[in-house]
Amino acid sequence: MVPQKLLIVGSGITSAVCCSLISRDPSLSKVFDLVVWEKARGAGGRMSTTRSPKDQDNVADLGAQFITVSPVYAQKHSSIYEELLQSGKLEKLKGHLEGMKNLPEGTKHYVARNGTGSLVKKFLQDAENVAIDYNTHLSKLTIVDGRWRATTLDGREEIFENVLLTMPVPQALQLQGDVQQTLKEAGVHGNLDQVKYSSRYALGMFFSEGVSVPDFPWVAKFIYGHPVWRYASFDNRKRNQDGGPTAVVLHTDVAFGEKNVERSPEDLKEDLLSSARDLLPNLPETQDVKCQKWRYSQVVKSYPDSPGFVVGSTEPMLLLAGDGFTHSHFDGCVDSATKVVEFLKSKFC
Ligand SMILES: Cc1cc2nc3c(=O)[nH]c(=O)nc-3n(C[C@H](O)[C@H](O)[C@H](O)COP(=O)(O)OP(=O)(O)OC[C@H]3O[C@@H](n4cnc5c(N)ncnc54)[C@H](O)[C@@H]3O)c2cc1C
Repeated sequence: MVPQKLLIVGSGITSAVCCSLISRDPSLSKVFDLVVWEKARGAGGRMSTTRSPKDQDNVADLGAQFITVSPVYAQKHSSIYEELLQSGKLEKLKGHLEGMKNLPEGTKHYVARNGTGSLVKKFLQDAENVAIDYNTHLSKLTIVDGRWRATTLDGREEIFENVLLTMPVPQALQLQGDVQQTLKEAGVHGNLDQVKYSSRYALGMFFSEGVSVPDFPWVAKFIYGHPVWRYASFDNRKRNQDGGPTAVVLHTDVAFGEKNVERSPEDLKEDLLSSARDLLPNLPETQDVKCQKWRYSQVVKSYPDSPGFVVGSTEPMLLLAGDGFTHSHFDGCVDSATKVVEFLKSKFC
């Protein structure tokens, strides 16, 4: 049997878990040649870990912070958690987390010692024989002779039998070519249009190794009633790393993010830095500062009934998956990937 080409768009956690599950499945791995296109220069998406340009050892999670697991998900994804904990990719949070509310009893917080991006990389590494093209931005999908012709922003074209989109839903709805008409004919476009995300900015403050950074009684804290900030952490301490350089990460409140969503991170950076210094006085001089806009941060309204994924077309196959179809966290993305793989098995094996 000649394998079919499956293009997976995006290299966030949903894509990475899909790649891992397909590659580890003896029958599915024979069906598909996997190709990942990612518009950024590295993997991770909203679970990526950023390095200070001035110190490669100083890293910070500007997006996802914790793997917070309810007892239900701990049981449902027990084999994944066992593997991540045994391999040391995931550890129990040791420091004090202040102010996280409304969690089911028995919920546990885990952290990735090397940053949440290392989890995405782990799943991608599990998947042998996946071709990953970074800096490759899909802009158009056109149906040609019963297959998808995928075109990048810079005009490269390639033919695929199957396509799986894992980017935030509004970004899928910006694709050109035959995608929008196909989604309308499948009767899913209206529901996709209803999927909504919050917007936030993240600020990363990197300090040189050896510089004294004040102690606080928490490693991470949720903030309530502040006009700008919602969350602050000492990122290295949060990741159970006490030695080495320190990075402070702050996330803005959603209302602030939405009000300022059309501003550029460069334009906001100095204002945010000054506000961060008011919030956390006595921080030393920074080695470097990064400001990141998350236009599509977390899902506030998911696809009706949270199906995990939707079928945009069967011939040629077009699937849409990711947190927009479940919940905006690690377990939601694992659920989405698992449901995609179950569907592929039922269709192709
Ligand atoms: C500030 C913040 C804090 C969060 N905190 C937590 C937390 O503590 N715990 C938790 O579990 N979750 C948290 N989340 C949510 C979690 O990060 C997301 O649910 C998860 O990362 C979504 O993964 P994904 O693979 O579905 O999508 P994404 O990570 O968004 O991946 C999609 C990928 O597609 C790429 N892409 C988009 N368009 C194109 C295109 N046209 N061509 C090619 N590539 C494209 C993007 O660059 C991206 O890499 C947080 C998110 C944010 C932003």
